[in-house]
Amino acid sequence: MNILLVYAHPEPRSLNGALRDVAVRELEAQGHTVRVSDLYADRWKSEVDRADFPTLTPDARLLPVAASKTAFDTDTLTDDVKAEIEKLLWADALILQFPLWWFAMPAILKGWVDRVFAYGFAYGVGEHSDRRWGDRYGEGTLAGKRAMLIVTAGGWEEHYSPRGVNGPIDDLLFPINHGILYYPGYDVLPPFVAYSVDRLDEAGFEAMAERLRERMRTLATTPPIPYRQQNGGDYRIPSMQLRPGLGDPDAAGFALHLNGAGPAS
Ligand SMILES: Cc1cc2nc3c(=O)[nH]c(=O)nc-3n(C[C@H](O)[C@H](O)[C@H](O)COP(=O)(O)OP(=O)(O)OC[C@H]3O[C@@H](n4cnc5c(N)ncnc54)[C@H](O)[C@@H]3O)c2cc1C
Repeated sequence: MNILLVYAHPEPRSLNGALRDVAVRELEAQGHTVRVSDLYADRWKSEVDRADFPTLTPDARLLPVAASKTAFDTDTLTDDVKAEIEKLLWADALILQFPLWWFAMPAILKGWVDRVFAYGFAYGVGEHSDRRWGDRYGEGTLAGKRAMLIVTAGGWEEHYSPRGVNGPIDDLLFPINHGILYYPGYDVLPPFVAYSVDRLDEAGFEAMAERLRERMRTLATTPPIPYRQQNGGDYRIPSMQLRPGLGDPDAAGFALHLNGAGPAS
């Protein structure tokens, strides 16, 4: 497979840097071709602003959605964004790797998504009718490709368990897995999460690295998280609410959007 790893850590000698090297080496050993977008090293511009839309006249009001659509349609996205889109189209699998910072991805990676996932490419795709609400949530430009997260967290695994004070990790990562990756069509694999990483010794690192190697060996075969397809009949259109009778009647929130058993992260 062709694999794109988008890496967001400012220090190459970090734990994240070491885990990235472990992942890349294992993927290459399995015969995959890997490209890395190293956002800090590349000095990735993270904010969406007028500079992203050079054809916008100086007095025109910046409407980010409309500007993104026009730039995509007219092939006037900036070269850095076009290069990332080309890599996403090339890749059969996308890996986003980052340390958990304030229960989310670092701003530079969020900015990569904001700028690269353009209107017409990652959203605003497909027809809206009484049968379909665009090609999204399981359908879209990136359908048929796989995606997964590699995340490091200072907190303990128990703190991220279903009754843990931080909230369940699958809930915290839902906006990324479902809202960013499943939305444009990816099959999203359960994340690789490394917990309690701030006090790690060599033995702890080696066990973690071996767990990551195993996930890289099974990248092509690991079953994806069973999210419900938006246009598959489970949701009412246009309210986009899960139909009555589906899901646990007592359940609310993110877990409702899983078809059957939840992911094993
Ligand atoms: C702004 C900010 C917000 C944060 N928010 C959260 C949060 O919301 N939730 C949460 O759980 N955590 C949070 N953290 C903690 C954060 O998730 C961790 O600090 C981060 O995941 C550690 O990854 P790193 O690559 O920076 O590790 P590093 O600091 O580089 O290393 C971590 C440990 O691994 C060891 N190590 C590194 N490389 C190797 C190697 N090759 N071999 C053996 N050992 C090695 C280091 O010696 C160190 O002990 C936050 C941290 C910051 C800075």
